[in-house]
Amino acid sequence: MDEIVGIDLGTTNSLIGVMEAGFPVLIADENGARLTPSVVHVAENGPPIVGNAAARMLAVQPANTIASVKRLMGTARRLNLGGREFLPENISALILQKLKGDAERALQRQVSRAVITVPAYFNDAQRHATKRAGELAGFSVERIVNEPTAAALAYGLDKLETRAKIAVYDLGGGTFDISILELNNGVFEVLATNGNTHLGGDDIDRALLDRFAETGNRGPEKMARLREAVVAAKHRLSTEEMVTVDIPFLDGGESFHCELTRQELERIAAPTVEKTRQHCRRALADAKISPADLDDVILVGGVTRMPLVRRFVAEIFGREPNTSQNPDEAVATGATIQAGILSGAVRDVVLLDVTPLSLGIETFGGLMNVIIPRNSTIPIKAGEMFTTAVSNQRAMTIKVLQGEREMARDNWPLGQFEIDFEPAAKGMPRVGVQFEIDANGILHVLARDTKTGAEKIVEINSAVDVSDEAVEAMLADSLEHAFDDMSERGWTEASLKSQEMLTGVDSALALVGDEFDETEKEAISAAMAKVRDALERRELQRLKQANADLDAATQHLAAAVVEKAMAGDSRR
Ligand code: AMP
Repeated sequence: MDEIVGIDLGTTNSLIGVMEAGFPVLIADENGARLTPSVVHVAENGPPIVGNAAARMLAVQPANTIASVKRLMGTARRLNLGGREFLPENISALILQKLKGDAERALQRQVSRAVITVPAYFNDAQRHATKRAGELAGFSVERIVNEPTAAALAYGLDKLETRAKIAVYDLGGGTFDISILELNNGVFEVLATNGNTHLGGDDIDRALLDRFAETGNRGPEKMARLREAVVAAKHRLSTEEMVTVDIPFLDGGESFHCELTRQELERIAAPTVEKTRQHCRRALADAKISPADLDDVILVGGVTRMPLVRRFVAEIFGREPNTSQNPDEAVATGATIQAGILSGAVRDVVLLDVTPLSLGIETFGGLMNVIIPRNSTIPIKAGEMFTTAVSNQRAMTIKVLQGEREMARDNWPLGQFEIDFEPAAKGMPRVGVQFEIDANGILHVLARDTKTGAEKIVEINSAVDVSDEAVEAMLADSLEHAFDDMSERGWTEASLKSQEMLTGVDSALALVGDEFDETEKEAISAAMAKVRDALERRELQRLKQANADLDAATQHLAAAVVEKAMAGDSRR
């Protein structure tokens, strides 16, 4: 099966998921844990260790252990671990490889394609580094998705019918992100992001430890035990009002015992949480909206489990936040849903996708006229006005094409149909052609005679759903033939112009020729002969020159025709 996994490559923890029987399922490692600490330890001459085992080495061998490498992504910082050099993306690759291994063990099959999330504020270099990390881990990275967008997908917010504005409040272990998104017909746009890359649950832990460490002077190992107990207490206080912290034999024979209430925790945590206020304000200001304009506020990151944080968010945004999803897992769940959309496993949600190849119609001379360029985000609507090349034409054939080549015949035909209109002089009829790709990737082509309003709509299903290989081949072809294609397009355009001018000059001469003296008429004939000659020789440069000369030679003639027409009008 051509499945794709979804991955949340987090600063503190990473997760991997896959669509199973239509549901996003996050995969546990062999110990049953779905959260893998984003920590890597490299021992001298030993294989790298990733996850919980590496996290335990943080206190013991900090020099050969790295956490939060996400903060360094996109930089060329060399990291020395276990006597070896790594780039940040190499470390991320090790984390991704561990997730890949866990998934393959759990699923009993290979996985090779992935969607990976990144913070909305990640720049190009950081996104590229993330993609490279995925590739180094053996994945083909199908899409890099913004974390707030993934979270919104997990909350099912893509199903909101029309437009909606959403705030994603993400308070994790080490970073805080606030994003304002706008959902418009199935596509999420990031209106504003703000945050602090050094603000999170770790700050609360530190403040708590300070409070308990006061009671004694302790070495690193004792501090690690104390920290573990304090963090566990913090977690429990999200659902309990009071907990006891017991650490047997912390100080030699003496055990550690104390009580902690939620009220006390909140007093200690409040300054950290308060710091998120200014970022929320700025994001709202940048997005130029007030809290009342928001349709939903969603919570991401483990710290948002704290009742204090929920109250705080409710106060800032003037509404109760949506807490229907597991805040640790929302991003990974959304990445998995996005993966399912890409692999076709999820069908009834909107597709956040782009057109892989250009779509257009054939116009005069067999040219491809692009209406929706490749890589446009869908859904999308675009149109253009066309006319006839021959007088008294009664119908126009709309040939719908997909591809990157200049000539219609080299692109793939997707379908064709006719639109009728009232006969008129060439260039008079106006036929509007509109392409619309809906959220499901279905192309609707509409053609309308603007005079009568008669219209036809045709649905084309295969437009967006082409295989990667076919897209690659089309792109390679269009590059390979770019030069020939351009000169063929040039020739076609120039010769169409010649034909048009030759017939135009003939009828002008018939109309007002007797008003011109022989020398001028001879000059015009000579210019026409040069055009015909260039057409016969099929020489593009010569034809372009001849067209320009004929244009210059007939300036007076054209003016006389216009004058005559205007005189005729005023006589009526
Ligand atoms: P994340 O980076 O999203 O994995 O969030 C991790 C942070 O959330 C850490 O600081 C955790 O201590 C904190 N956290 C996880 N669960 C809870 C909980 N139940 N109550 C309070 N904080 C939590």
